[in-house]
Amino acid sequence: MRFYRTAIATLSLWTCATLADSLPKEWLDQARALGYEAASSNIAYSVVESLTTEVGPRLAGTEAEALARDWAIAELTTLGFDTVAVEPFEVPLWERHIERGRIIAPAEQPLVLVGLGGSASTGDEGVRGAILRVESPEALQALPDGSAKGKIVFVDQVMGRTQDGAGYGAAVRKRRETGEQAYRLGAVGALIRSVGTSGHRFAHTGQMRRAGTSDLPVVPTAAVSGADADQLGRLLDRYDAVEVELVLTSEYLPAAQSGNVIAEIKGRTRPDEVVIIGAHLDSWDLGTGALDDGAGVGVVVAAAKALMDAMPEGPERTLRLVLFGAEEVGLIGAKAYAEAHQAELEKIVLAFESDFGAGDIWRLDHGVADEALPLIESMTTVLAPWGVIPGKPGATGGPDISVLAQAGVPVITPLQNGWDYFDYHHTPDDTFDKLERHSLDQNVGVYAAILSIALREGVFFK
Ligand SMILES: [Zn+2]
Repeated sequence: MRFYRTAIATLSLWTCATLADSLPKEWLDQARALGYEAASSNIAYSVVESLTTEVGPRLAGTEAEALARDWAIAELTTLGFDTVAVEPFEVPLWERHIERGRIIAPAEQPLVLVGLGGSASTGDEGVRGAILRVESPEALQALPDGSAKGKIVFVDQVMGRTQDGAGYGAAVRKRRETGEQAYRLGAVGALIRSVGTSGHRFAHTGQMRRAGTSDLPVVPTAAVSGADADQLGRLLDRYDAVEVELVLTSEYLPAAQSGNVIAEIKGRTRPDEVVIIGAHLDSWDLGTGALDDGAGVGVVVAAAKALMDAMPEGPERTLRLVLFGAEEVGLIGAKAYAEAHQAELEKIVLAFESDFGAGDIWRLDHGVADEALPLIESMTTVLAPWGVIPGKPGATGGPDISVLAQAGVPVITPLQNGWDYFDYHHTPDDTFDKLERHSLDQNVGVYAAILSIALREGVFFK
């Protein structure tokens, strides 16, 4: 970024040589010590417990999300941050009401399903139709207009289980597009196989492209559990016609208030240079958002607190904690943040976030300038005792931070093990009991160690 390229140009040769040779050993030792200290605190665990118990589910734009902001302000103020504030913005509000479905032919059977956020409503009378099954969003898109008249489209694409969650991107396309594609085909409703890997009979919700955000309206759309998708598949293999009934009632409400909660530890010698760590405060409405993203909130709050305790005189740079609102419904808080802070984006030296559950961090990916690669190497060296291996370039920093990355902010992604994350993601089963205490502690240690390095002066990203 311009600001730092200028700064680098004015630095002495000594500093450039130091960057190339990696950081002073003393800094690395201090970072590791801070990480160990942070990992032994109870803060992350108790923060997630408090948020998920006292607030519970917190859908963007609802009173519950407002309560979560109040909770965050109280929590962060008590922990001793220099400033704590809310930056409000508006979000479209959608509310689910009755959701049920059943197979009505060849024989009656119940379906476990959940409406997708932004779905149209069937009305109380529901809709009925024969299933038209396709294997992917691409296959759905290839069908001609009007070719599913009166039917219920079913996109039966399986999401693979991986450590890095690589299957999620493709699966999200299915969730986003099916409702409007089904409208184009003339269908009365649509189902998708849940975006998830659960072997249990839970359906996974999530945001679809809502009516009014593209040229196409949407039909009532729900996700069925993996087990129900399998069952529909077996029936379709055996019978010519499989019919289902869907009752999905929901409502678009007037735009409502959401907000980002922002807390800072002011920098002592370079207060204008900012390191951002983020997580999101909102959650889906089914579980209590313990993994998505209560865990992230706990990790970043605990890491920041550890840093505060270790440096009572303050870090060199400013640490800014951003608890985003309205992530689940389309990164609305992240977009509001980037817009409100456009003028100072070039002063953000590094941004990263925790929003992938509570699994161990195992790799450090990066999206920084080449000049900063020795620094990333040093960070990885520090993180080795926690089992973190060197990562790849091209990181986007996570969902909310990706908006900043697109605007040119340097980012890293401390990649977590997401092997079982999509078993729980966006289901009623995303609850506090799923947290592994030792993994949460490992995350806090890694975040604190990274912060210890990133908040030093004399370290330059792009
Ligand atoms: Zn999330």
